Amino acid sequence: MIKGYVHQVVGKTPLIKIKSLSEMTGCEIFGKAEFLNPGGSVKDRAALGIIEEAERSGKLKPGFSIVEGTAGNTGIGLATIAAQKGYKCIIVMPNNQSQEKYDTLRALGVELVTVAPCPFANENHFYHTAKRIASERPNAFWANQFENTANYRAHYETTGPEIFYQMDRKVNAFVSSVGTGGTLGGVSKFLKECDKGIHIRLADPMGSGLYNYVKLGEITSSGSSITEGIGIMRLTANFKEAVDDAVQVSDQNMISMLYHLAEHDGLLIGTSAALNVYAAYQYALENKGSGKRIATILCDSALRYQSKVFNPEFLKEKGLTVQKVAHTFST
Ligand code: PMP
Repeated sequence: MIKGYVHQVVGKTPLIKIKSLSEMTGCEIFGKAEFLNPGGSVKDRAALGIIEEAERSGKLKPGFSIVEGTAGNTGIGLATIAAQKGYKCIIVMPNNQSQEKYDTLRALGVELVTVAPCPFANENHFYHTAKRIASERPNAFWANQFENTANYRAHYETTGPEIFYQMDRKVNAFVSSVGTGGTLGGVSKFLKECDKGIHIRLADPMGSGLYNYVKLGEITSSGSSITEGIGIMRLTANFKEAVDDAVQVSDQNMISMLYHLAEHDGLLIGTSAALNVYAAYQYALENKGSGKRIATILCDSALRYQSKVFNPEFLKEKGLTVQKVAHTFST
């Protein structure tokens, strides 16, 4: 089918059954192939939802600039759609993300602002910097993916139903990490409305406060992670749906899964996606042989991080090795 605009090919991604892990667990594990979106990630959906709602409400008009603070993928999503619709983009990012994202954003013609990574309370955090730039520039629209609920609505209206119907309405569990919470919030709201019994599990990297929030009711964390775009130390408007449970996934288990999927399933997926799949696999091991059907999100591609995850020097520096994925799980 021929499409006239790039935004028309956002979403409606295939759902891939992950054969190796399904066979190892006696469950069925499915990954939503979000790396096939035009900007290469799940965030294209949120970007499109935010832009279209802002156009409808009159907050975004022809000739305006779109300003956003992002770990990169939302910026890429906004920039692909903005390029085609004729908006300028000003993207604020922490300076420790993969080189591939900065290069992609520059190719898309954005004005890139980088800031040192810092806690959210610091006024120079990318979130506050983007907000400030949007208030200082004329005709600027701040996308505000963390608090703008057009983000989770995009997933409630598209990702959730796509997963449910692609799985013939037979879903036992949905597993996802959280950056803004838009994906988990929107998909889980839709799935719970279809069937309250669908288990919703948060997959959290080390250094994120949400695992302890779900388990203990307090936002505290320890450790750190090389994953990008996920893990957060506050609650957002988009992360408001109740989850049933949470697990923490170490970088070591994440990287072993990333390489396992490349070698056994031909799937080149990014770090948050590998973390998601590890958590889905863990759920399957807990329910070994039950035939349960588990969905998760393949957020973006390993190629977006190849200068890190396919770089032996980088892995060595981080103390990570490629290990065989075990038939029993470890934390
Ligand atoms: N994975 C990657 C690679 C991301 O960039 C993001 C968004 N920052 C997420 C997962 C999480 O998505 P959400 O913002 O919907 O929670």
